[in-house]
Amino acid sequence: MQVNVSGLKDIKEGEEVVLNGWLQEIRILKNISFIVLRDHTGTIQITSKPGLTTGYDVLSQMTRETVISVSGNLTRKTQSKSGVEVIAKSIEVLNASKSPLPLGIIDPVSADIETRLTNRFLDLRKPEVAMIFRIESELLWGMRQFFHDSDFVEVHTPKIVAAATEGGADLFPVQYFEKQAYLNQSPQLYKEMLISAGLNRVFEVGPAFRAEKHNTPRHLNEFTSIDIEMGFADHNDAMLMLQEGIKSGIRHLIAHRQEYIASLSQRIDVPEGDFPKITYRDCITKLESQGEIAKFGEDFTPEQLKIIGGEFQGFYFITEWPSSLRAFYTHPKPGDEKVSNSFDLQYREFEITSGAQRVHDPAMLEERLRSKNLNPEDFSFYLNAFRYGMPPHAGWGLGLERLSLIMLNLQNIREAILFPRDRTRITP
Ligand code: ATP
Repeated sequence: MQVNVSGLKDIKEGEEVVLNGWLQEIRILKNISFIVLRDHTGTIQITSKPGLTTGYDVLSQMTRETVISVSGNLTRKTQSKSGVEVIAKSIEVLNASKSPLPLGIIDPVSADIETRLTNRFLDLRKPEVAMIFRIESELLWGMRQFFHDSDFVEVHTPKIVAAATEGGADLFPVQYFEKQAYLNQSPQLYKEMLISAGLNRVFEVGPAFRAEKHNTPRHLNEFTSIDIEMGFADHNDAMLMLQEGIKSGIRHLIAHRQEYIASLSQRIDVPEGDFPKITYRDCITKLESQGEIAKFGEDFTPEQLKIIGGEFQGFYFITEWPSSLRAFYTHPKPGDEKVSNSFDLQYREFEITSGAQRVHDPAMLEERLRSKNLNPEDFSFYLNAFRYGMPPHAGWGLGLERLSLIMLNLQNIREAILFPRDRTRITP
């Protein structure tokens, strides 16, 4: 019977099994050899003996990370730590690995991030590295389920676009036949148009491209954006959806993958209660009280965000950002238009999400475009959607890799994406 390593716990003493995987380690003694076979669920010791195991004579030529198929009998009469091993009847090479490996899988010396990324297919064979993506997948699955159950439609908007979402120079140009096009920075304009189209609640998980030249542990040039937009809703509704979406992702992970959680060094719990909120102005007051110079209209530095984040246990919102700091589509706060109905979700000093109530009045939108030195004519495809009945609406964009970064306490966002695109890397 073909089984995964994790399935061996349900197999009876002496029963015959077939295991497929990689040869992680091999130790050849005089009349006995030990192999550690690894598959995507774990590792198991395989014992083989001359005369008992077909293929024994080629063991001495087998290289680490060779793909093998082992058939044999399970036994719990073993000295191995896992309390179970397989006595091999046959060991077959399915595909040999070249030697030496450019990156060790079990070597205790951990390689630098560049070597790891260059050999990402090997790096990902390390269970703790693969775990990042297993957890990411579960978090996203839980969030998807929540939005689906909350009446959101999953959509897919174009990534090749004619206009910048927010203007600015942070765009990758693409030659689109005879025209100049760009890779989209964000699905913002398209998800808003879908509110005018009457879909009412949409979400999208897809790539976002930023031609930002900075090289930091929290920026990528291509990242995965989880976006929502909801009709007949404001920033408070959007914040609630974000809070509940994140909680649902974590709840799903904990409920379905206890073994993942158990393998981590840090705790993962569903946050209790509402995420606290602090206004931008109150952040300034707080910083000033600690002797920091913080001016209205300026973004906080990472050091300042550390001070603000120090006040909170986990996730918290910074609300009412200055209108001058936010994109043209951000709705000003009625009666106090220097600030806006906007928010960022933060975790310690890290920004995880930006969101807001959006401008729905076409005249106000045109005015806001002009005030940001953008030409409304460049946005006519978008503005049209506001001229024939656009509901009030709100939404946000959450960086999946930033979420993994903070949840798993990673040092560098490149660890949270399979094949990072950064200032210098476009392969693998
Ligand atoms: P930052 O100030 O950190 O550069 P931003 O204000 O440009 O981010 P938004 O455009 O508001 O970010 O994007 C919304 C979310 O998308 C962010 O909160 C973050 O989670 C994610 N994000 C944005 N830019 C990047 C990036 N370059 N790399 C990874 N994630 C990003």
